[in-house]
Amino acid sequence: MENCIFCKIAEKKIPSAAVYEDEELLAFKDINPAAPVHLLVIPKQHYATLQDAAGAPALLGRMLALAPRLAEEFGCAVGYDADGTPSAGYKTLINSGPDGGQEVYHLHLHVIGGAHPWRGQR
Ligand code: ADP
Repeated sequence: MENCIFCKIAEKKIPSAAVYEDEELLAFKDINPAAPVHLLVIPKQHYATLQDAAGAPALLGRMLALAPRLAEEFGCAVGYDADGTPSAGYKTLINSGPDGGQEVYHLHLHVIGGAHPWRGQR
């Protein structure tokens, strides 16, 4: 897709701090992190929004399943105290369309952890 910044990142035409790559997916560090861990998971194929990817449930599943693996690697995986209380964790977020706060129109999943400024918020 011409003029899509995340397509250019997927094609290595512009650099990114990549943390994971396979045939279908790329994950890289967000350039303007909202927390100590802020990663973006993208499909290499261009889908403008989640709406446009509704017909690709396996791909969406793979994107989501990558989040806990990355969280583990980046030290923000959900843990459990001895009494079973959950600890640490991260937010997974897909903004869709203008009302959803989407700025970059190439589907991406935010994985945001290592801090909890949104605790108690949606
Ligand atoms: P929002 O900016 O409201 O979170 P999006 O959900 O569309 O909207 O998120 C786009 C994200 O892409 C932002 O967090 C932004 O910092 C990030 N970003 C934009 N350009 C780059 C880039 N070249 N490399 C890494 N991250 C980028």
